[in-house]
Amino acid sequence: MADRIAVNDLRRHAISTETAVRTSVERVLSSGWYVLGQEVEAFEREFADYCGVGHCVGVANGTDAIELGLRALGVGRGSRVATVANAGFYTTTALAALGAEPVFVDVDRDTKLMDLAHLKQVVEQAAPDAVVVTHLFGLLHDMDAVLAIADQAGVPVFEDCAQAHGARRGGRAAGSFGAAASFSFYPTKNLGALGDGGAVVTGSADVALRVRRLRQYGWESRYRTGEGGGRNSRLDEMQAAVLRAKLPFLDGWNRRRRDIATRYTREIRHPRVDRPAVHGEEYVAHLYVVTCDGREALRARLAEAGITTDVHYPVPDHRQPVLTGAGGPVAALPVTDELAASITTLPCYPELSDEEVTRVISHVNAW
Ligand SMILES: *Cc1c(COP(=O)(O)O)cnc(C)c1O
Repeated sequence: MADRIAVNDLRRHAISTETAVRTSVERVLSSGWYVLGQEVEAFEREFADYCGVGHCVGVANGTDAIELGLRALGVGRGSRVATVANAGFYTTTALAALGAEPVFVDVDRDTKLMDLAHLKQVVEQAAPDAVVVTHLFGLLHDMDAVLAIADQAGVPVFEDCAQAHGARRGGRAAGSFGAAASFSFYPTKNLGALGDGGAVVTGSADVALRVRRLRQYGWESRYRTGEGGGRNSRLDEMQAAVLRAKLPFLDGWNRRRRDIATRYTREIRHPRVDRPAVHGEEYVAHLYVVTCDGREALRARLAEAGITTDVHYPVPDHRQPVLTGAGGPVAALPVTDELAASITTLPCYPELSDEEVTRVISHVNAW
């Protein structure tokens, strides 16, 4: 049998970046300074420039970035936040930590992103304190349309860009549209560290300052706590140095991901498999997700051929036991439910060879 094709393979990624990463790690090792130093400061500048925003604040992970970013926007105990239920429970986790409540918005069947008509309805009827838009699978939402709805009601929009580093619309990058935005640098993300990492980006000096305080106990200066709700959520020097080494490669990796996704969409032809549309720069193909009538049968067939697949995500937020256990009403999100039962993720990462992509396509088509 031919070699296996994993749904992701970080060993290949490690080999492709080894020299640059090794140099960075050795620089930090010999510096004698390991948390919040020159590397973090330099990465924050470089990543803010990359996103085209004024400010970037490194934090410990992407979920903290959502939590601290929202807190800096004024979200807290009793706040209500409109968000989707198909994005892996990360935002909902952050809201629980804030004591805030999710108001779930259904998603669009084709883009799998927040449904604009339902958002409009939720904004008008539930009067949320903020909206979190997740650029799921690497597809930057139509932010002009989202902002038109939210701005009219005076509701701030927060972007979860954990899957969308470098996605662009009209020359503007993910993270530069909302009042603030979060990134994760978990190793599998389009820009990944060698462990956990995250960041909040924003155009507002005031929001950036608040996140800077919140990530370090709420300190406004050393040992003087001025900001409530702070804790320890720092990005360390090693991760920042690794991210600096990888950032120059990000656009190239994103192009390769998009090329693979484009081939899948053009060349997969199966009456029971629906592919996403072919996209331009607004899609950085973090995950390539098809919908399939008979998902488990397709997955089993691909597994027999040595091709692993995954499901992102099988349990939508509104059906997570930790929420339903409270016994409240379960939100009606028909498209979210339908997608959770039919989506599957095919291998899509920069180090995949053309030949491997061809093999995935022919095995799907032969199902
Ligand atoms: C990975 C991810 C997060 C959380 O990032 P962590 O660094 O793992 O905390 C948040 N939102 C989305 C959409 C993600 O994919």
